[in-house]
Amino acid sequence: DPLKVQDDSAYQGFTSDGSESSKAETYEFQTEVSRLMKIIINSLYKTREIFLRELTSNASDAIDKIRFLSLTDPNALSSNPNLNITVKADPINRILTIRDSGIGMTKKHLKENLGTIAKSGTSEFLDAMEKGKADMNLIGQFGVGFYSVFLVADRVVVTSKHNDDKQYIWESKAVNDFSITEDPRGNTLGRGTEIKLYIKEDGSEYLEEKRLQTLIKKYSEFINFPIYLNVHRT
Ligand code: ADP
Ligand code: MG
Repeated sequence: DPLKVQDDSAYQGFTSDGSESSKAETYEFQTEVSRLMKIIINSLYKTREIFLRELTSNASDAIDKIRFLSLTDPNALSSNPNLNITVKADPINRILTIRDSGIGMTKKHLKENLGTIAKSGTSEFLDAMEKGKADMNLIGQFGVGFYSVFLVADRVVVTSKHNDDKQYIWESKAVNDFSITEDPRGNTLGRGTEIKLYIKEDGSEYLEEKRLQTLIKKYSEFINFPIYLNVHRT
């Protein structure tokens, strides 16, 4: 069981929000991605919890990648030797944060992987949904699982640090465009990716400790790294 619940005091060094910089560059989402996001953000799909499966699987993939790289480049891990995933809920500010110490994304990766490079899966998933041959639960199988975050969040901030680049902040309020800014705080992550979800009005359950604990257990069965759930003890 990879899940470990720990007190908030152990949860250090999380970045605050530095994304409101004037140096932000704005990019249009690729047309199909924009269409997909419209559908996701307006979705009445019941099983919205799948976003957590998609984010933990991306985090796990990212840790696998840096570990693999470290086999041929022993220095790869020195930017952050701990390989783990941390989840934190902040019910006051309605923010759910998922952080991993995986390979991270360069500015180019952020721009291409999260919005501008067309993936065949995007239109295939849209077609399958329109024809009633796929539902939201299959989003990950079409290679566009990341966008499921917009089932529960209306604003998403991704901060990422890759060994080959500076730390960057990607931000989107859906649906048409997103921005990328060099992080004015510098390198706070060491290495990896932190995803902040600003949870929608009707998504409060995803800020509750018990609910998160159940979901993480459910979706971390095949994840080989520790997942810490940071909870706030008063
Ligand atoms: P898939 O995981 O099937 O490739 P996703 O939509 O889930 O599709 O993610 C798109 C891409 O974004 C991933 O392939 C990866 O390159 C990048 N990505 C997403 N999350 C992370 C993360 N936590 N760390 C590093 N890269 C990530
Ligand atoms: Mg994925």
